[in-house]
Amino acid sequence: MNLERIRSDFPLLAEVCYLDSAATSLSPEPVLQAMLEYERHYRANVGRGVHRLSQIASQKYWDAHRKVAAFIGAREGETVFTRNTTEAITLVAEGLTWRPGDRVVTTLAEHHSNLLPWMRLRDRKGVDLAIVPPAPDGTVTAEAVAEAVNDRTRLVAITHASNVLGNLLPVREIGRVARDHGALFLVDGAQSVPHLPVSVPDLCCDFLCFSGHKMLGPTGTGVLWMREAVLEPLVVGGGSIDRVSAESYTLTGGYARYEAGTPHISGGIGLGRAVDYLQAIGMAEVHLHEELLTRRMIGGLQEIAGVTVYGPDPGPGRIGVVSFTVQGLHPHEVAHALSEQEIMVRSGHHCCMPLMDHLGLPEGTVRASLHLYSSEGDVDRLLEAVQGLAGGD
Ligand code: PMP
Repeated sequence: MNLERIRSDFPLLAEVCYLDSAATSLSPEPVLQAMLEYERHYRANVGRGVHRLSQIASQKYWDAHRKVAAFIGAREGETVFTRNTTEAITLVAEGLTWRPGDRVVTTLAEHHSNLLPWMRLRDRKGVDLAIVPPAPDGTVTAEAVAEAVNDRTRLVAITHASNVLGNLLPVREIGRVARDHGALFLVDGAQSVPHLPVSVPDLCCDFLCFSGHKMLGPTGTGVLWMREAVLEPLVVGGGSIDRVSAESYTLTGGYARYEAGTPHISGGIGLGRAVDYLQAIGMAEVHLHEELLTRRMIGGLQEIAGVTVYGPDPGPGRIGVVSFTVQGLHPHEVAHALSEQEIMVRSGHHCCMPLMDHLGLPEGTVRASLHLYSSEGDVDRLLEAVQGLAGGD
């Protein structure tokens, strides 16, 4: 991995120390260029017109779906472009047919986006929601999930990687538990797909949801992969039909069934280019690079008096998301002070309030998160600044 060359594709890195990639990543120049190329040279709607520009735009938009599908080991036509992970999960929650008493099993380590859609089903449709609590370092075992899964379980919905503690969950084993009970299995891949090799045949899941904007793609992009088109579309209209008469309509097959209306075309094309960029480096390389930096960050933070680090020890079983607190300072105070030194980190509950309550951290944590463009220099700059805030030299 030629880090210097990679960093030159992200001009913002020359200005700031960006350690908030778990919230949204930066986009490299080739992604921005792909989007601008669409705007400047072949901007047209997709899947509709027969004119030349519409044909080019449709082909490029379709290519982007093909690239994203290949990136996660899926077949063509199985990926739906959404605005983000939240929308992808909601499409599943609202697109399945629920009976009162159907059970959904999830965990207390989830982002609100993988909790609220199920809580709403509980409140509105009488779905029985089981929420498995994690251990203090975020660990959720397949056995703990198995205890919550019964024969009325329709769906198990679990994050692959925690956006607070950084731990990876044993999704393959949990998937087997779901399958043994005839339940569907949804994986929230928002924090895993951008950082390590993820393959849907390997995961044995039925739905995989992730965000394009966390994997070098544009904001406003996300993906829902589903094994079979079992969902009722949330939105119907232009672009999603085969035939309409005044009496009835027939929805089309493939991803277009779930992408009614004009999509975020430049965003989809940019996401396709982001996938090319990631693949040229290789996801195993990305994971390893982030693992080494995470080790440096955790080791350094643990040496600072007054700093507490949460989550599992460094190693391949986690991602580059590091939560910590500084004694005597509110997490927002730390993030503010770091921002004044041009170091961008996230602070607060990270959209995981139930997890924060469970961990006894109502004010949340400071979270520094990495991506493939992060460097040892970024980590050292953070460590030095935190040392200063914690009262050291
Ligand atoms: N799940 C996890 C694990 C996340 O980290 C996030 C984003 N922080 C989401 C879901 C929601 O992603 P988005 O905001 O792109 O919908």
